[in-house]
Amino acid sequence: MTEPYEIVETDLLILGSGGAGLFAALHAFDANPRLAITLVVKGLLGKSGCTRMVQGGYNAVLDPRDSLEKHFLDTLRGGQFLNDQELAWTLVAEAPRRIVELENQVGCFFDRRPDGRIHQKAFAGQSFDRTVHKGDLTGQEIVGRLTEQVYARQIRLLEEHRALELLSDRSGGRIAGAVLLDIRTGRFAVAQARATLLATGGGPTMYRITAASADKSTDGMAMAYRAGAELCDMEMVQFHPTGLLAGPSLISGTVLEEGLRGAGGYLLNGRGERFMARYDPVRMERATRDIVARSSYLEIREGRGTKHGGVLIDMSHLGPEFVERHFGGMCERCRDVGFDLARQPVEVSPTAHYMMGGARITLDGRSNREGLFVAGEDAGGVHGANRLGGNGVADSCVFGARAGDAMAAAAPGAPRSAFDEAIAAAVIAETLAALGGPGGEEIYPIRDEMRHLTWDALGLVRNARDLETALAALAALRGRAARATARGGRRYNLEWMDILNVRNQLLVSEMIARSALAREESRGSHYREDFPAANDRAWLRNVCVRRAADGDMAVFTRPVALSRLRPEEAERLAGVGAPRTADLTVPEDE
Ligand SMILES: Cc1cc2nc3c(=O)[nH]c(=O)nc-3n(C[C@H](O)[C@H](O)[C@H](O)COP(=O)(O)OP(=O)(O)OC[C@H]3O[C@@H](n4cnc5c(N)ncnc54)[C@H](O)[C@@H]3O)c2cc1C
Repeated sequence: MTEPYEIVETDLLILGSGGAGLFAALHAFDANPRLAITLVVKGLLGKSGCTRMVQGGYNAVLDPRDSLEKHFLDTLRGGQFLNDQELAWTLVAEAPRRIVELENQVGCFFDRRPDGRIHQKAFAGQSFDRTVHKGDLTGQEIVGRLTEQVYARQIRLLEEHRALELLSDRSGGRIAGAVLLDIRTGRFAVAQARATLLATGGGPTMYRITAASADKSTDGMAMAYRAGAELCDMEMVQFHPTGLLAGPSLISGTVLEEGLRGAGGYLLNGRGERFMARYDPVRMERATRDIVARSSYLEIREGRGTKHGGVLIDMSHLGPEFVERHFGGMCERCRDVGFDLARQPVEVSPTAHYMMGGARITLDGRSNREGLFVAGEDAGGVHGANRLGGNGVADSCVFGARAGDAMAAAAPGAPRSAFDEAIAAAVIAETLAALGGPGGEEIYPIRDEMRHLTWDALGLVRNARDLETALAALAALRGRAARATARGGRRYNLEWMDILNVRNQLLVSEMIARSALAREESRGSHYREDFPAANDRAWLRNVCVRRAADGDMAVFTRPVALSRLRPEEAERLAGVGAPRTADLTVPEDE
């Protein structure tokens, strides 16, 4: 018997309520309040995703001594020239407008200087102190106020609903909505929309150690791929150097801010050696994030790590009073799991933090599939090979707003097409089959294997042999995950949700592996020990993936359009004004 489902008719369907989804909803509503807008959230509004976890802040040019050109140059140098320059320019040009909007219309209040101007702090890789913040809880301020604004409008909210799959219309020509699952009841719905936005926030949660919000499982990227969207730069996964190691606690992987190293903290290996002397004897712990993260990883891999597979951050030589006074939040976080950061070394590890890759978009967030928009961490191109701290939340706000405006403008002329019912029924049947009770394979051993595999082969140090082995192992894991079943009923069945999560994470892991194998050089966050140098002549190209007609994953490259600035010109400009990214030695938290 065919499973029944509710049909939700809407003009705009927005999937995800981080900075991108919330900005899109507000902009679309304010542009045209007659539009029916439905906001679907896998977690809870205001309490899900990574935007609310933003500690450090938001980059915007506000000071007359700063300039859009400097921010642009920093962004391209950080991204090692893989960025889509038009997207990067749009980011820096519109980031200040969204800050004004956040304060004047949304109701945020950021930290200020004594003279009343917004306070902006230093962040790694930036030639000017341009990071706007609210203490070290900037994300809560932004998401909290945006959420209040959503509640104040006629926006339909479906919390604890997960999008399972995008749906085409009957001709297959345009995206007509999505199949949804109500996590609380286990019932299905199909949202039928004139325009759909993916803003589910990517998130490298397939790695053994990760800082990203646990409700994210790369669903948007997996759905985009299955719907025929093109994705780019999937090999570019950013690792933060100091994720807290706290055993099986959920807090493991959470970021201990980079200001600890900036203030003079030491990194020690399991033998008590300041191992950065081996990798960057000049800058030591103050080297850039990618170098420190990779060095820690190599120490651990070479058997010089701690007994729990990490390294140590030691602040004790700076004096407990200094550490407590300047890093109260970090001390508190460590105390919660029994560590005394001010007095003892604390175990840390690199932690998977952010995905620079994602769906290829236009300046208005349109994907290559008609009717499908993408914004925030689900989209690629803005950050190139490496994102600057502070540019992530700015990206979500800027491109979420642009997508909301564009969707509102497009909706009145767009059809609310009949969706392909056969595909909807197949998606629902496949999802229900994962609720087969005992007999199928358990998902958790598969998830553990995935986490170790991604960490070891698709992580901070890669090579062709391991990537090829990993691709075979991923295929086997995908086969097993397809046969996995959950025990228990439909209501709030987290094992069932984890099967769906792991299936998406395995697909996106394959995109990372194939892209990483294709890029035979090292650049930004992608390090190949068999090709340890950057190669501008061959590799100023984006690696892209797309589902081919035969169902295989097609991998191809596109030259980066150097539409505004060439690398050599940037180096010249940087020489006369802006410091090189690598020369900045006092990184702040992110
Ligand atoms: C610990 C930490 C600190 C950070 N600090 C900074 C910083 O200081 N500055 C900075 O610029 N960036 C920072 N970042 C990065 C920043 O958080 C991201 O760049 C940005 O917030 C992503 O926004 P988003 O709207 O794309 O996604 P998110 O804010 O992650 O929101 C994703 C939303 O999608 C929902 N969702 C997921 N799957 C589905 C599904 N299948 N169906 C429906 N809904 C779904 C989630 O529930 C959530 O509501 C930090 C990240 C982390 C992890």
